[in-house]
Amino acid sequence: MERWKIGDVEIQRVVEFQCPLVPPDVLLPQATKTNLEKHRNWLEPRLRDPISGLLIISFHSFVIRTPRHVILVDTCGGNDKTRPQKLRYHLKNWPYIENLGAAGLKTSDIDFVLCTHLHVDHVGWNTRLVDGRWVPTFPNAKYLFAKKEWEFWEAEYKSVQFTDDPYYEDSILPVIDAGLTEFVEGDHVIDDWVRLEPSPGHTPGHICIHISSGQSHAVMSGDLMHHPLQCAEPDWSSCFCVDPSLSATTRRNFLESYADTSTLVMPAHFPTPGAGQIISFDDTWRFNFDND
Ligand SMILES: [Zn+2]
Repeated sequence: MERWKIGDVEIQRVVEFQCPLVPPDVLLPQATKTNLEKHRNWLEPRLRDPISGLLIISFHSFVIRTPRHVILVDTCGGNDKTRPQKLRYHLKNWPYIENLGAAGLKTSDIDFVLCTHLHVDHVGWNTRLVDGRWVPTFPNAKYLFAKKEWEFWEAEYKSVQFTDDPYYEDSILPVIDAGLTEFVEGDHVIDDWVRLEPSPGHTPGHICIHISSGQSHAVMSGDLMHHPLQCAEPDWSSCFCVDPSLSATTRRNFLESYADTSTLVMPAHFPTPGAGQIISFDDTWRFNFDND
């Protein structure tokens, strides 16, 4: 299991699953065969499966242990969820709780759950199925949702029929009904080591999470980028971006800010080890995986 020290803070990565998952031009519409050709040599085999051509995507959480709190960031797809339109999350039985256990954690140990945004693959383990009911997985946690993100999705859920994709009902409402949710500003500060920052585009209330201790700094960037290809091609936004143009601007600003610094960047879907540094390369950037 990957583990990092950021000064006095420890971070671990807890994987739900990782595999060659999606054709490049399905996730990133601009990643056509022609546009991809020049990137092939550095993408394969680590970031793109050479046989199937699919991009390799990870679904993981990060656990942050500050001297005061245990914080879980992004809760993947979850188990037992009915997702007939999204088969990669449909009726799964992942050993996620066991993987948390391998990180030395019981579900009762988590003080805060943070979702970088409220997409289906970031809220799944907010709840689990017990005796036919969805109950909060982390009974002692405060679930922090960015106010702006919640307001957007609450309106969406009301305006659209989510009958075949009920993730609002099974993964978000139960924690609100249990009184465990706190709606916070996008720049909320959790403690001396962890704070949020707005990073809109992928979704309107998307947040990044900064971890700072002494001279060390890490940032969990959620879905600000889905794949290292977007460091090289920062203007390629994903098919899931609510505002693809703003997403590209936010991504460029982020890459510019952290390029060639020691900041550890921890996106939500990059494959093992799931973290690294941004480095300048030609006119854009590349992702230098930690421990390479
Ligand atoms: Zn995602």
